[in-house]
Amino acid sequence: MIHEVLDKIYKIELPIPFPLKTMNVYFIDDSPRTLVDAGIKTEASFETLKKGLETNGYGLNSIERILITHGHIDHYGQAKRLSSLFGAPIYVHPKEYGRIRSIIHSLGFIKSILLRNGAPEALVNEAIRYMESAQIMADPLDEAFFLNDGDSILFKSMAWKTILCPGHSPGMLCFYWPEKKILFTGDHLLKEITPNPVLTVNGSKPPFRYPSLKEYLTSLEKIEKMDISLLLPAHGEEVYDVKGLIQKIFSHHKERMDRVLFSLSQGERTPFEIAMDLFPGVSPFEVFLGISEAVGHLEILREKGKVRVREKEGKDYYGLGV
Ligand SMILES: [Zn+2]
Ligand SMILES: [Zn+2]
Repeated sequence: MIHEVLDKIYKIELPIPFPLKTMNVYFIDDSPRTLVDAGIKTEASFETLKKGLETNGYGLNSIERILITHGHIDHYGQAKRLSSLFGAPIYVHPKEYGRIRSIIHSLGFIKSILLRNGAPEALVNEAIRYMESAQIMADPLDEAFFLNDGDSILFKSMAWKTILCPGHSPGMLCFYWPEKKILFTGDHLLKEITPNPVLTVNGSKPPFRYPSLKEYLTSLEKIEKMDISLLLPAHGEEVYDVKGLIQKIFSHHKERMDRVLFSLSQGERTPFEIAMDLFPGVSPFEVFLGISEAVGHLEILREKGKVRVREKEGKDYYGLGV
């Protein structure tokens, strides 16, 4: 599925083997011709991209630069493969580059964090096995150029600016085109789904801090202040009502915060137990996301002095009060 969203901006929908089913890459026909995100590394994704470009008179050799919004496999998975064909350079935020390089090595740590957050061992093992096996759908990046907050991305006839939006991922970059007031959002803002503040941990020793949701909401405030008339997200449809979407996400999180507080009013709980209250009957992969969501809210509540945490038999239990 390919269509021209705007003059010289093509949206190509690529298949992904996840519940979201597809992700969008954007091909920009201005010099250097640029691809925003690369898709996952499967034959289906590769062929769909190739066909999409060819339908419009381009080819894989038209890709002269690849910008990666963040280091999730559906976004960077086939970047290296594409780059190796005709030498297009890859650009990514340094934090995402580091995460991509170390994901396999950090699975042991992720496992210990999930256990500490109260997830049952069998479920954790299954989640880790899944994450491990998913890595065949992505090539780690070797050579890449770094983009930081506020950097300019130059084209022959326009200049974009990078906006660092940590939260869903620590080095998530959105790309802003000021003249047209367009923002390429990656997974920071999506039309139908509230992006998950995927679990990140500050430090390697307890007490652990989980900044994702707090950072996500701060990044959202940053976008709210900008002059934007169109969002081009990496999943689903484009968004015109930018302020409306942002308000919807804020109130969604407020509502979830209330549900977390309600869950705690029943007594002390691990983040896993809270995740089960929020999302009953989730799959092992979603357990990871559910815990991300729970600890994000708990961390904000803890900082406000509304909840306390104590360790019992290797697990963190949260309760109301200080
Ligand atoms: Zn993502
Ligand atoms: Zn994604």
